Amino acid sequence: MLKEAAFYQSISDDKLLCQLCPAECKLAEGQVGICGCRFNRQGKLYTDNYGEAVTLAIDPIEKKPLYHFHPTTNILSTGANGCNLGCLHCQNWTISQSKTHTTYIEPAALVEAAGKHGSIGVAFTYTEPIIWYEYIMDTAPLLHEAGYKVVLVTNGYINAEPLSHLLEHIDAANIDLKGMRPEFYKKVCKGKLEPVLETIRTVAASHVHLELTNLLIPGKNDSDEDITRLVEFVASISDRIPLHLSAYHPQYKLNIEATPADTMLRAFSIAQSKLKHVFLGNVALTDGSDTACASCGHKLIRRSGYRTEIVGLDGSKCSECGAETGIVR
Ligand code: SF4
Ligand code: SF4
Repeated sequence: MLKEAAFYQSISDDKLLCQLCPAECKLAEGQVGICGCRFNRQGKLYTDNYGEAVTLAIDPIEKKPLYHFHPTTNILSTGANGCNLGCLHCQNWTISQSKTHTTYIEPAALVEAAGKHGSIGVAFTYTEPIIWYEYIMDTAPLLHEAGYKVVLVTNGYINAEPLSHLLEHIDAANIDLKGMRPEFYKKVCKGKLEPVLETIRTVAASHVHLELTNLLIPGKNDSDEDITRLVEFVASISDRIPLHLSAYHPQYKLNIEATPADTMLRAFSIAQSKLKHVFLGNVALTDGSDTACASCGHKLIRRSGYRTEIVGLDGSKCSECGAETGIVR
């Protein structure tokens, strides 16, 4: 469904500047932005993805991944076609980098679906929710009115002003921090690093519950120096932000070996030296699954695959030492 886009301005007689994300596409009549959904039609910027969902599924919240936000619950998950980055390794490239079949779900219908099957709300995920901005801005307040949670799983590639409005309507976010070198973002992800770092700083300073994901790609972003820089950046904000280290498997345009287990364990060790909550994903290892109290080390949450068991929490406090854990329940 067509909708006039938010955040654009006219920069010449026939060109519009889209100001939603740092790509800042300049679009002449008929031109489509990098995200594949925003275009200039007769001097107005439109998006053609409003309410157009590629899928609707119920997932464990741990699958987003969010480990410290309503653990053990399910969440209705949905997403649109397209993305404002173009990662060579995108595991959802069939829906993020090309147009596929979609179904229109009006905001009220998404709210109605949100509470089914024990879901706590809606996660905007799979592709990039930022390019679904108008739909999320219309739908999230309705979800909140009905008592549901709103979650973003995002690349964090958004400009400051739209982000500030979006955050008013979000409860939790997992942001993908893909690496710490600008040239990695440019060559592998087709974007810029600094705006993502700025988004992370902004979200961390807001009311929104924040977790981060880093996919380790052999030879691309997995050196000790890469991992140390990333972990130091996170620790400079807070050593309590959960960090999910995820193993890469060959996808889309990147066909190199999957991340070996010893790389995951090396990264885990470096990250644990600076951060309190580090997790390993996409890999068959028993390390990096459970949550322990950052104050006394008591086990709080036990996980095996997507089976999650709360074993040491009293509300959001450690049942052993009484420390506040930052786990939202
Ligand atoms: S949202 Fe799309 S059209 Fe707008 S700047 Fe980003 S990639 Fe370009
Ligand atoms: S940001 Fe995510 S959805 Fe977009 S191309 Fe990269 S991996 Fe795919």
